[in-house]
Amino acid sequence: MGHHIPISPHGGRLVNRVIETKMNFDGMTSLEISNDLRNDIENMADGIFSPLEGFVGSDEFSNIVHHGRLCNDLAWTIPIMLDVDKKTSASMKDAGEVLLKNNNEYFGLLHVDEIFSLEKLPVARALYNTDDLKHPGVSKISAMNDFLIGGKVEVISRISESPIRKFRMTPLVVRSEVQKRGWETVVGFQTRNVPHIAHEMVQKAALNIYDGLFLNPLIGKKKQGDFKDELILNAYSSLINNYYPMCSTIFATLHTEMRYAGPKEAIHHAIMRKNFGCSHFIVGRDHAGVGQFYHPFAAHEIFKNYPDLEIEPIFFPEFYYCKRCLGYSNAKNCPHGQEFREVLSGTKMRKMVSSGEMPSEYLMRPEISRIILSYSDPFISTS
Ligand SMILES: [Zn+2]
Repeated sequence: MGHHIPISPHGGRLVNRVIETKMNFDGMTSLEISNDLRNDIENMADGIFSPLEGFVGSDEFSNIVHHGRLCNDLAWTIPIMLDVDKKTSASMKDAGEVLLKNNNEYFGLLHVDEIFSLEKLPVARALYNTDDLKHPGVSKISAMNDFLIGGKVEVISRISESPIRKFRMTPLVVRSEVQKRGWETVVGFQTRNVPHIAHEMVQKAALNIYDGLFLNPLIGKKKQGDFKDELILNAYSSLINNYYPMCSTIFATLHTEMRYAGPKEAIHHAIMRKNFGCSHFIVGRDHAGVGQFYHPFAAHEIFKNYPDLEIEPIFFPEFYYCKRCLGYSNAKNCPHGQEFREVLSGTKMRKMVSSGEMPSEYLMRPEISRIILSYSDPFISTS
């Protein structure tokens, strides 16, 4: 094997804005940041959102929202927004440099560059292709403050980690692991669900072709009815311990919220995995979709507009258990009809949760079924 050249981060350089500081914060203006936004600010600092070094200004923001690219034409589809009300925006403008605070902890600094107004309706329409408040992204924007802040951030390295973050990894760590293992091709897998065997089979089908698998479930704000984060984490660690070869798998969690922006979010998901060092990315059917807002294959189509992405999307046909093939098949390699197919539908999952009845071992690993059943309410009840 020759010397292997790692996949370049998005924009060519991995951002690192983590600082060690014993600075005196006395008298500085501070801003309270939500848990979700703190995660994203840390994603900026760790390079997961490379090349972003902070919150973008109005020109970049408008380009992202309306053209899916930064001003330098680099692909970027999802804006990361810091919103404030009018009064706060005035005090921040005066301060110039602001302390970022979350749960009574100062965790970073924001260098305020620009404050501009958020035109909620046009932004929601451009981003989500709808202004229907039933769309969780639209509803979120409509509830935001009227002003956005642009400016670079710096994050003070964390002293303590919570249990939900024990599998979080920075791109630097993942990249060095990939290098150590000598992988030339790495497939990223995004998920916000507990693993069905159908998902496992897709991941393992990819492992037949590529050197390594980067399993990267998304932990963070999701919509009502999705599985709870802790459950997803427990289910995946159990699955990996029991069914995955450690030599070809890296498991890490990604802490960011779901935006349900369908195709645009599929691009965003791919860019983050490129920053982690992936060469390929599995794009699902109705990837990051919600309800009926996006065509199931829109997330596949959009990659045609981004031939410059430098991470290759992989589209697998849907996998199902076929009673005649005696194994996991898909429409490309199995000629048998619907009557021979078994799939784990949402309805079956809900029935399992309400009746306590485990689904067939052909559809879900018993370890995973048991974890789900150990929760009295495995789903998120309020969004
Ligand atoms: Zn078949």
